[in-house]
Amino acid sequence: MDNVVVRFAPSPTGYLHIGGARTAIYNWLFARKHKGKFILRIEDTDAERSNMEAIQGILDGLQWLGLDWDEGPYFQSQFVAEHRAAAEALIEKGLAYKCFCTKLQLDEKREAARRNKLTYQYDGTCRHLTADEVSLKEASGQAYTIRIKVPRGTGAVVFNDAVYGSVEKKYQDIEDFIIVRGNGQPLYVLSNAVDDIRDGITHIIRGQDGLANTPKQILIYQGLGAALPEFAHMSLTLDPKKAKISKRKHGEQVAVHYYRENGFLPWAMVNFLVLLGWSTRDSQDIFSPDELINAFRLEGINRTNSVFNVAADGGKHFTDPKLISINAHYLRQMPMASLMPHIRTWLIKADLWRSEFDTEKRLWLETAMDLIRGRYNTLEDFVTFGKAYICDQFDVAPKAARKHLADPEVARWMPELAESLARLENYDAKSIESELRRFLTEKGIKAGKLMGAVRTAVTGQEVGPDFIKILTTLGRQCVVDRLKSVVSS
Ligand code: GLU
Repeated sequence: MDNVVVRFAPSPTGYLHIGGARTAIYNWLFARKHKGKFILRIEDTDAERSNMEAIQGILDGLQWLGLDWDEGPYFQSQFVAEHRAAAEALIEKGLAYKCFCTKLQLDEKREAARRNKLTYQYDGTCRHLTADEVSLKEASGQAYTIRIKVPRGTGAVVFNDAVYGSVEKKYQDIEDFIIVRGNGQPLYVLSNAVDDIRDGITHIIRGQDGLANTPKQILIYQGLGAALPEFAHMSLTLDPKKAKISKRKHGEQVAVHYYRENGFLPWAMVNFLVLLGWSTRDSQDIFSPDELINAFRLEGINRTNSVFNVAADGGKHFTDPKLISINAHYLRQMPMASLMPHIRTWLIKADLWRSEFDTEKRLWLETAMDLIRGRYNTLEDFVTFGKAYICDQFDVAPKAARKHLADPEVARWMPELAESLARLENYDAKSIESELRRFLTEKGIKAGKLMGAVRTAVTGQEVGPDFIKILTTLGRQCVVDRLKSVVSS
C-alpha cells in the first residue's frame, strides 16, 4: 500500500485517555507498517471545552507512549475559514443550501413530531427557496444555517468499513443536516471532513462512535469532489460490567498518565492497549515494536467490544491483571540497558539517586536491579520492595519482622554470624555458602530459619532472589552492618 496518510484527531477535552491512546496506537502502527505518514491534529473548535493544559496532556501522553507523529500538531481552529469556504462551495454547486428556519419554528415541528410519535427529521422547508427568496431573507438580516441537500429518493450511502464490512444508510434516513450554525460556526462533521481532505488522509481509523458521522461525511466528500478514504471503525472498550469506560465512573484509571505514574513501561502499555480489540490469528500477546508493526492489519480489528478489567479484584489489583502481567513480563525480560533509564527516573523521583550510580557504581546498580527485577510488577516496586538494594534507610516489612526476627534465639546468633562473615578471608559465593553451613551445624539452627532471618535483616523482605546472590550483591560491609544493627534496634 503506497502513500498511506493517517491521523489521530483528539478533541482536547481532558488528558489522553486509554480509548484515545488506543486509536492513536492503531493509526501509528498502520502508518509505520506502510511507511506512511502519521498526522496529529487537535480538534479544538469547541473552544469552551479545549484548553492548553489538556492539549499538553495529550502531547505528553503520546510522547511517553513513543507514538511519534510526522506532521502537526495542526489545530482545527486555524482552518475555520477553510471550513466555511467548503460550505460556500457546496452551496455554489447546489449541494447545500441556506436555511432560515428559526429555532422556534424547528422546535415546534420537533414537538409536533413527538406528539404524533414520529421520528423528527427536518422537512426541507428552505430546500426549495428560490434564489430571490434567499436574497430577500438575507437582505432583511435573517440568520441562516447551512444544510446539506441530501439526495432524495430510494438511494443510499454505501461504503465498506474495514472492520464492520458493508455499511448502508438510506438517503431517507439522513436529514438535511446542518454544516454551519446560525452564528457562522462550522459544525464538527464538516470541519473534520474538510481537514481530512486537506491533509490527504487515506485511511480513517477511529472509534465506533464516528460511524454515525460517516455517511454524512461521505456526502460532503462527494460534494467537494474529493476521493473517499478507507474507513475502519474500532469497537469500544468496556468495563467488566460492559459499561462504557469513563472518568466519572472509573476515575484516573482511564488516563494514560495514571499508568505512567504507577510504574508502567510505555511499551507494555502499548502492547496491552493494542490487544483491546485487535488480535493476530494465533493470538500472540507479546510483541516487540518491530513485530507489532509487522503484524498489524486493519482486518485484525475485532467487531466485538473489548473489556478493560478496571480494578478487577476490587482493590487487590489496581488495574487490569493482564496489563500488570505484560508489564511484569517486560520488566523481567527487556535488556538491562533499556530498563535502566526507567529505573533511574524512578530513583530520582523517590530521591534515591546518587551520582555514583552514573559512575563507579553504575555496573553494580545494574547487577542489583537485574537480580531483583524477577519478582516485580511495576517500576515502583524497585523503590518500595527494592529500596534496601539502593540505600540503608529501608523499612523492614512488619510481617517479615514478626515471623523471622522476633525469636530471641535470632538475636543471640545474629551478631556472631555477622562477625564470622566479617572475618571471612574471601567474601565470595563459595566461601559464604560454606561458612553458613558451618555456622548452621555449629549452632544447630535450621537452614530455613537462618535464611529467613538474614534475608529479612538485609533486605527488609521475606521473599526475594537467590539468597547467596543477595549477600554477594549487597557486599560484605553492608551485610555485616545490617545483621548487627537489626538486633540492636
Ligand atoms: N475529535 C474526534 C474525537 O476526539 C475524532 C473523530 C475522528 O477521528 O474523526 O472523538
